[in-house]
Amino acid sequence: MEKKQIEEMIDKAINMMDYSYVPYSHFHVGAALLAKNGTVYGGCNIENAGYTPSNCAERTAFFKAVSEGVLEFDAICVVGGMNKELKEYAAPCGVCRQVMMEFCDPEEFQIILATGKEQYEIFTLKELLPLGFGPNNLKLDRRE
Ligand SMILES: [Zn+2]
Repeated sequence: MEKKQIEEMIDKAINMMDYSYVPYSHFHVGAALLAKNGTVYGGCNIENAGYTPSNCAERTAFFKAVSEGVLEFDAICVVGGMNKELKEYAAPCGVCRQVMMEFCDPEEFQIILATGKEQYEIFTLKELLPLGFGPNNLKLDRRE
């Protein structure tokens, strides 16, 4: 990915933290999901008084895209911190990694973790979810 595009995704993810609904944890998370068609879908975390129904920023972004018929993705940027202070990387939780596994090639899909435009690292999904179980595991004509 080009540095300019990475910086735009970091900006978008940071801006998405403004929409986080986090009255309980005050831990804001923003995500920017780049689809192969070039569209960037934003996502924020959304908490709930019942706790269990809470949703992560990454899944918010994925489900927005999938609900509009978009199923192919190149990368996601995730940022997060208590009261929007970006001190360390906010890596995707296990559930979100599994959702990524459903729609993304683990060897190709890139996960950008950032605390700002000058500080970020890029991982593949395979690096963050080794030996992930995905759609290919359920296909009879699975190719290796
Ligand atoms: Zn998550």
